Amino acid sequence: MQNDSNTDKTQLAYSTCYNQPFINVISLGAGKQSSYMLLTALEGAYKYKPDFAIFSDTGCEPDYVYSYIEWLKDYVKTKYNFDIVTVSAGNIVDDTLNYLDGKKSRVAALPLRLSGNGGLIMRQCTNDYKIAPLKKHLQTIRNGNKVRLWIGISLDEIERIKDSAVKYIENYYPLIENRKRIDQIINWFRENEMREPGKSACLICPFHSDNYWKVFKKQYPNEFEKACKFDDAIRNYPNLKRQTFLSKHLKPLREIDFTQHPSLFPELIEECNGLCGL
Ligand code: SF4
Repeated sequence: MQNDSNTDKTQLAYSTCYNQPFINVISLGAGKQSSYMLLTALEGAYKYKPDFAIFSDTGCEPDYVYSYIEWLKDYVKTKYNFDIVTVSAGNIVDDTLNYLDGKKSRVAALPLRLSGNGGLIMRQCTNDYKIAPLKKHLQTIRNGNKVRLWIGISLDEIERIKDSAVKYIENYYPLIENRKRIDQIINWFRENEMREPGKSACLICPFHSDNYWKVFKKQYPNEFEKACKFDDAIRNYPNLKRQTFLSKHLKPLREIDFTQHPSLFPELIEECNGLCGL
């Protein structure tokens, strides 16, 4: 995926619309929390107004996420003249497979599980594929201004909030400020008869819960097969003595019975404290 070419338009929009000292930017994952945050922000639900939203595309979201983001872009543009910008640093699946084939010298590591104790490889993918392209875009348009980055973490996941490590970015958590939980968010979509997004995260994410895999396998068998093939391909990762797996069960994905450990809220990404899954 390529960066959108509407940078100039976006720059004009934030500099003239709200006359705020910060540029207000929504980090949009196209999952329930961030989509709710965007849609309610455009109705004036928070003390600030967003200037535009950024969707960092890892290149391997499930098809339902791409379908939703296309609908959402069109909806907010038509109703609010609001822009969602897509940025990307490439495709995690293709890049990893090319690394495994020796066609790439480096790839950002996924948090794969190691055989034996199930320990995780240190995760680099969130930074390289979610955060870095977002920051790169912000640097090109901020023109010396600070950025208030809206992150859609709900009250259920309050442990994921943290201060920004970047000087020009201030993290802002409107769903925490307004004490919104995931069940309230889901109800909002239903009560307002608004198209409801699914969970956003890479289709090969090692943090998916068993409940997610169970539903995904049933509803999207072709994409589940893609994830299984990727899981087969990463078994012998370069420079590691132990085998690696996508699942915490340390078994090939296609052999696992996902009915054993259902999560209460399958929308929440397990264990991930980055910008993923929102
Ligand atoms: S969703 Fe998972 S695989 Fe994708 S960038 Fe985030 S942690 Fe990595």
